[in-house]
Amino acid sequence: MTIQQPVQPAVDLAMFGGGRAVPRELRIKPWPMVTEQDEQAVHRVLRSGRFTSASSGEQEIAELEREWAQHVGTEHCVAVSNGTAALSVALSAVGVGPGDEVIVPALSFIGSATAPLHLMAVPVFVDIDPATFNLDPAALEVAITSRTKAIVVVHLHGLPADLDRITAIAARHGVAVVEDAAQAHGARYQGRAVGSIGAVNTFSLNVSKNLATCGEGGLITTDDADVATRATMLRQFGELIPANGERSYVAHLLGWNCKPNAMQAAFTRSRLTRFPAEAAVREENVRRLLGRLAAYPGFLVPEVPQDRTHAWHILRFRVKPADFGLADEFAGPLRAVVQRALRAEGVPAAPYQLQPLPAQRVFTEQRGFGAYPWALPGVAARPYRAEDFPATLRVLDDSFTLQKAHLHPESGPLLARYADAFEKVWQHRDALAAVATTTAYRPHWERASEIADAEWATAFSDR
Ligand SMILES: *Cc1c(COP(=O)(O)O)cnc(C)c1O
Repeated sequence: MTIQQPVQPAVDLAMFGGGRAVPRELRIKPWPMVTEQDEQAVHRVLRSGRFTSASSGEQEIAELEREWAQHVGTEHCVAVSNGTAALSVALSAVGVGPGDEVIVPALSFIGSATAPLHLMAVPVFVDIDPATFNLDPAALEVAITSRTKAIVVVHLHGLPADLDRITAIAARHGVAVVEDAAQAHGARYQGRAVGSIGAVNTFSLNVSKNLATCGEGGLITTDDADVATRATMLRQFGELIPANGERSYVAHLLGWNCKPNAMQAAFTRSRLTRFPAEAAVREENVRRLLGRLAAYPGFLVPEVPQDRTHAWHILRFRVKPADFGLADEFAGPLRAVVQRALRAEGVPAAPYQLQPLPAQRVFTEQRGFGAYPWALPGVAARPYRAEDFPATLRVLDDSFTLQKAHLHPESGPLLARYADAFEKVWQHRDALAAVATTTAYRPHWERASEIADAEWATAFSDR
């Protein structure tokens, strides 16, 4: 249903000098929130003198692993230093190596794609479904070759990807599914927690994520005991570290040093006790915001298919040009002006990713290990081009996101004012549509490209 409001003069908009919909005093609550219980957990470790997983008798990390495995419903969990390391370790643990192809969605965080590259595997990008922002199973099917070893299934923004179709395709081709659940702690797919469905799966505990630590951390989950053992070795120099007794210093595998930190594990354990309750409140707060926005058809709010739940890590909103009386070609300019108007009102609307991952210089310029992995024998020449990912480009162009502001359980009042701001912007849609058709516009990825060139030109002293 459309709410008919009298057309108000555009000068009401904060963008044109009017008052803000979101009062300045109403600030975003800090994330991660730190309680006395969290502080005590960290102090406990400081007093224990056991700071890493290699410290004899260390228990916080082992307990976090046990608790998270139980939470997700897997046999094993291995903690590491961050979510990107978790992905590299996980891919290596299932046998991904030089010259293998690893499929990655074109819209994700860079770590999803650099993790396989660090194994000298070749990232092969697949376009997204513009409704869910997750990798499109139809595009996945055609991207698989005889060299494909794994699919990094990102549950972007907290919404589980189409795991049924993806795992069916993967099984048909004998390819490992690796869930990148860095943004999706606690989300469920057909009743099962994400991170319990792939052969091996990863989470990030970075400060920005829904289950955060006081710094960096990552978790790997799997039902496969051998994969867990390999991951435990890979996080510490390829060694087998005994729970008790002498360390042998024998390196069995090419490992990294990406051990977890006991203080950060203790902090996360403390947060984990409140995690389900916080997620439930967040669900209510976000649903209330989205419920209000349903009255303004120009904004396309995130959809959640019946068979899954959303962790609401990031909220992505698309604009619909037709509802603003505009032709489709104005999607980008309209998004830009709506974003500006919302920001002026006090809503921190912002892009998440300026370009498809394959447009990042590391890929377009093939900045790997010298010319490798692309120069390895048998690796097909496959240039990385943004234009091969039209759904990703379209979504980047016509959508903006809300990040962080809604994570704190007491964000309800702030989100109510955000809804007021969307309402105000919607009431002034005609004025904003006029601005959209008359203002110069450059898509994010063109700006990103200029930023990349300018930064690179000044990066090194030997120019
Ligand atoms: C944050 C994130 C990562 C990387 O996690 P870090 O802990 O920052 O290394 C990987 N994939 C996705 C989808 C992410 O959002």
